[in-house]
Parts: sequence; C-alpha cells; structure tokens
Amino acid sequence: MPGFELFGDLERAQVNDVLESGVLMRYGFDGARNGHWKAVELEKAISERMDAKYAQMVSSGTSALTVALASANIGAGDEVIMPTFTFVASFESIIALGAVPILVDIDDTLTLDPVKVEKAITPNTKVIMPVHMCGSMARLKELKAICDKHGLLLLEDACQAIGGSYDGKPLGSYGDLGCFSFDYVKTITCGEGGALITNNEKFAKNADHFSDHGHDHLGKDRGADAHPFMGYNYRISELNAAVGLAQIKRLDDFLSIQEKNYSTLRSAIENIPGVQMRTVPEQGVENYSFLSFFMPDEQTAREVHKKLGENGVDGCFYWFDNNWHYIKKWDHLKDLTSLGKLPEEVRKGLPDYNNMDTSQSDHWLGRTISVLIKLGWSEQEVHDRAKKMSDIISSVTVEVAD
Ligand SMILES: *Cc1c(COP(=O)(O)O)cnc(C)c1O
Repeated sequence: MPGFELFGDLERAQVNDVLESGVLMRYGFDGARNGHWKAVELEKAISERMDAKYAQMVSSGTSALTVALASANIGAGDEVIMPTFTFVASFESIIALGAVPILVDIDDTLTLDPVKVEKAITPNTKVIMPVHMCGSMARLKELKAICDKHGLLLLEDACQAIGGSYDGKPLGSYGDLGCFSFDYVKTITCGEGGALITNNEKFAKNADHFSDHGHDHLGKDRGADAHPFMGYNYRISELNAAVGLAQIKRLDDFLSIQEKNYSTLRSAIENIPGVQMRTVPEQGVENYSFLSFFMPDEQTAREVHKKLGENGVDGCFYWFDNNWHYIKKWDHLKDLTSLGKLPEEVRKGLPDYNNMDTSQSDHWLGRTISVLIKLGWSEQEVHDRAKKMSDIISSVTVEVAD
C-alpha cells in the first residue's frame, strides 16, 4: 500500500518547484509563486480522478473527516454511526466536534453491517460513516438506501481504499462526502495530508472556509477576506501538496502493481480448506492494498499469524489485538480519557463504550488476518511469499483437523 516505496524524481521535481519559489503556503503570495499552486492543482486532479465536483485538500485524513463532518453542520448531540473496526481517527473526528460516536458491528465485509446500522438509528442520528478498511468497501447500496429512508448523510472514509470503486464509481464519490488520507503509509502519500470530496456546493464552500479559520477566500488578499463563521487551521502546505501531485499521477500504476501482487497471493491460499476470503460486495472493486481472509476460528488465526511472523512473512496484521484499529483495546477512547474535561453536555450524551455487545465484530475480526500488499516486491519475492503463506496456512489447518 505505501506510496513512499516508489518515491523519486517526480516527487522531487514537484517539491523543487515550491522550494525555488519559496512560497510554502497554499494561499496568497501570488506574485512570488511563479505560477505554482500545488494544492489547487492537486484538488483539481483529485476531483477529476474521483469523479467529484469538488475536492478540498487538508492537513491529514483525520482533518478531512473532521472538516467533512463540520461542513455538514454536525455538532453537539448529533449521532454519527461508525464501525467497531476502523482507525481511531473516526472516533476522534466525531468527538472533536462534540458529536456522538455510535459504534456498530462489522460483518464479513470487515466494515459496517447494514442490518446493525438500521437498528442503531435514533432521532439524533445524522450521519452513517462506513470505513472502507484494508482496500475494500462496505455494502454501499444498502447503506445508501438506509440513508435515503431516514434522511441521513453518507460519509465514506476511503482513507485505506483510494482507487477502489463501487457500482462504477470511485470509492469516496458514492456518498454525500468522501475522505482520503495521504499520510506516510497510505497508497499515495503527501508525507502528511488528506482530502475530502463532494458534489454538494454548500459542503464544499463550508469545507474551504472551515479548514482555514473561516476565511471566505473572496478578498483580493487574505486581509480582505470575510469570515462567515469560525474555523480552524486544517491547511495543507504547498510542500506536502507537491508530493501528492506527483503521486496522484502514479496512482493507477500503483494500483495495477498491487492488483498483480494481490492476485498471486490470493490464488495461492484461497482454495485451502478452512480459508474464507473477506467478502467484497457485488459491484465492488478493491484497491488491492491488503489481502484479508478468515481462518476457521480465533485459535487458528492466532497460530497462522504467529507462524507467518516467525517465518519472515512480514506485514501480516492480526487486527483483533491491535489497540488503534479495533474497539477491544481502545481503552483511552472507551474511558474517554482526555487532557481537558469534555463538556458535560457531550459526556452525558455518550453511550457506555465499556459495556457494548461486540460479539458479532469479535466473531469476524477474531478470525481475520490481513496481509499488506507492497509495491516494491520483486516477482521472486511475491512467489516466495505465496509459497510460504500457502505452506503455513495448510499446515495449521491440517493440525486443527487432526
Ligand atoms: C489513516 C487513516 C485515517 C487518518 O488519516 P491520517 O492522515 O493519518 O490522519 C482515517 N481513517 C482511516 C481508515 C485510516 O486508515
């Protein structure tokens, strides 16, 4: 998945444009910048590639989620439905706005279960936020139907699935809002950076203002801008945007390398008895950044994961034990440990995260192993890896059968 693996001359050339002009900020300084508007160009490239009317660059994927929610006027008391398996950023961005994270079980897609989502809806629900974990997507058609029925917004966290698609649409563009991360380990990187996309003009305008202290960007210089509402600084720098501009042009090349490596590994293991591949919804195309599969039970999954590691198959994740991607070990979030006091109104509205029934999520994630697909593997390395994975998984499943 990591774009940093193939970082090189194209990225350097883009960054040098910025360094030579000396204008590291995305707004203003028109005369000094030698015509370089890297963040603006990257927004154009993203909106074109992702088939969305508007794109807003920000400083991270976490910022993108926060700005996306804020742009849709989400605030205190509003409930946002998110999955139990995600990155902590989902929870953080919701609570940062004083809104209420409602955690809902995953299913065999490894993201939101639409049946559980519908049961979790209350009069305060405003947004359904599926997270397209590990390169594949939620059942978007079902989630969209629920949103339409209840008058809710669909916000796709496509931070780990950029370049995938659903029903012919790029992931992130199916819902009302979509978010991407370009942090250092994502499919394409800016070093740090993120983006949100939307076809909604009002959300786009709000995002543009909110991510830059409420500036409306209509003045002839920054001092002449009006401030229709309060904002914050979620800006991306020109240096980071320059890296992203080089990388987005390489996205389709990266995806085809990932697909090739993924396919080799997948065909080596998918027919081993006891192995069940993660479900990709019909009409969905993964971005192939991970290969995820289920073992028959938790014990076998733990055993396979351990043996893969011991035998040098790196980049294998057993998310069930991970303390920033799965609710089971999110102690600081479940206990609401914060530096300052959370407002009483916010605290009172939150569910008791320590006493939730997550047995359905445990059932799937306890058996899941994900293998990170790298861009830099040689053909030989992919084949060696496929062989090792197949041998290890077969030996463990045979042991269990005995
Ligand atoms: C990486 C990631 C984010 C946050 O992105 P940052 O750029 O690291 O802030 C949000 N959601 C998911 C699913 C991610 O993987």
